[in-house]
Amino acid sequence: GDFPIETDTIVIGAGPGGYVAAIRAAQLGQKVTIVEKGSLGGVCLNVGCIPSKALLSASHKYETAVHSEDFGIKAENVTVDFSKVQEFKGGVVKKLTGGVGALLKGNKVEIVEGEAYFVDQNNLKVMTEKASQTYTFKHAIIATGSRPIEIPNFKFNKRVIDSTGALALTEIPKSLVVVGGGYIGSELGTAYANFGTKVTILEGAKDILGGFEKQMTQVVKKGLKAKGVDIVTEAMAKSAEESETGVKVTYEAKGETHTIEADYCLVTVGRRPNTEEIGLESLGVKMTERGLVEVNEEGRTSVDNIFAIGDIVAGPPLAHKASYEGKVAAEVISGEKSEVDYLAIPAVCFTEPELATVGYTEAMAKEEGLEYKASKFPYAANGRALSIGETDGFLKLITLKEDGLLIGAQIAGSGASDMIAELGLAIETGMTVEDIALTIHAHPSLGEITMEAAEVALGNPIHTM
Ligand code: FAD
Repeated sequence: GDFPIETDTIVIGAGPGGYVAAIRAAQLGQKVTIVEKGSLGGVCLNVGCIPSKALLSASHKYETAVHSEDFGIKAENVTVDFSKVQEFKGGVVKKLTGGVGALLKGNKVEIVEGEAYFVDQNNLKVMTEKASQTYTFKHAIIATGSRPIEIPNFKFNKRVIDSTGALALTEIPKSLVVVGGGYIGSELGTAYANFGTKVTILEGAKDILGGFEKQMTQVVKKGLKAKGVDIVTEAMAKSAEESETGVKVTYEAKGETHTIEADYCLVTVGRRPNTEEIGLESLGVKMTERGLVEVNEEGRTSVDNIFAIGDIVAGPPLAHKASYEGKVAAEVISGEKSEVDYLAIPAVCFTEPELATVGYTEAMAKEEGLEYKASKFPYAANGRALSIGETDGFLKLITLKEDGLLIGAQIAGSGASDMIAELGLAIETGMTVEDIALTIHAHPSLGEITMEAAEVALGNPIHTM
């Protein structure tokens, strides 16, 4: 018989949204159950953020080993054992997903394997191949994440692959066509280009990396081109024809039809929220046209005791956003006053060089009619950047004219993913450019670029005119 098991809070999905929400709810005294049909850690740890960065860093080590002539270093016969690369990547993933399991258990969260389906507002069924079990809950947090979008005539198979397939290749392809130059396609394209793959990116829009400013994507495009990557913009991918050994991709650009042959075709044109087939319709949970779950600033859906977080709600589909929303939902459920504030959520693209943005861009400030000032400082004028051979790019601060309050920052350049943290903190704590300029940054470091941009904002920079 299926005797219901009672729990306070049930979390569906153990990605960076769900597992963080579960731990925080448990810390705040809830009896928590988490249901996962795949692997702990979700997309991010298993087939997203972590393995893609492990692959990128391995590819970067190879690329720098081969191309360090400018430093007087010439390495010959550098080889890649790609199965070892995959082993390294797998090891990183295993360590982290194992850590998530240990943390959940350490916080007394009950982990249930299986697929969750809502029966009603207080009952959920978890199905495995063999059995089904009902759970009765007071609150639920849905964190079911997203999956790659498949487009017509590009059916995922052996040679037409999604990001998960691209991360799991057993050989370095000689050639790779990437359909969709968003951050996932650009990052994976960078990784394989570093390993020597001939990469072609087909982008439907006017530019790759549409979420970032043109000034920034310009820097990445230069980097990609230097790696031999071909970028075709305003290209409509039409079809892919698979054979035993490769794939023929047909696309249209400037009114002409072209075909390229490659070993693989990676399709990264976006992700779809996993909001079907979990019984949300019968609950009356309000959804948007795009299949996202509607929530308020607490993460609460239109059904009072049900919350939703991460890739299935509006906003940038990023791991740290999912975790942040998870903490807020767990706190609200536990009776604390908490709500999301998205201003200081950074977004990073781990290309070479990296792109990072936090808070307002110039375009956003303009749109809101703010009296703002944009102050830039180039990497090329920084001693550290020169000494590591990473002189491409800039850092830009967006401040209010009136009082110098920092409201946004963009970085295109080496180390951007780490440097953006200081600027997120500055926005979060309400700092002005004067505060940043007065903060002594170690010499020589990339951090000085931030300080110097603040001095530019104040009108008295030392190392630029
Ligand atoms: P997910 O991580 O998708 O987890 C959802 C979980 O729910 C899954 O494990 C799934 O199996 C489970 N589930 C679904 N339905 C059910 C059900 N009915 N019952 C039980 N379990 C269910 N983001 C960044 O911030 N930085 C990056 O560098 C980055 N790189 C990325 C690289 C790639 C290649 C990809 C694909 C994504 C990347 N992302 C990155 C995005 C990031 O992975 C997602 O934003 C993040 O994983 C979303 O977290 P989530 O908790 O909402 O969902």
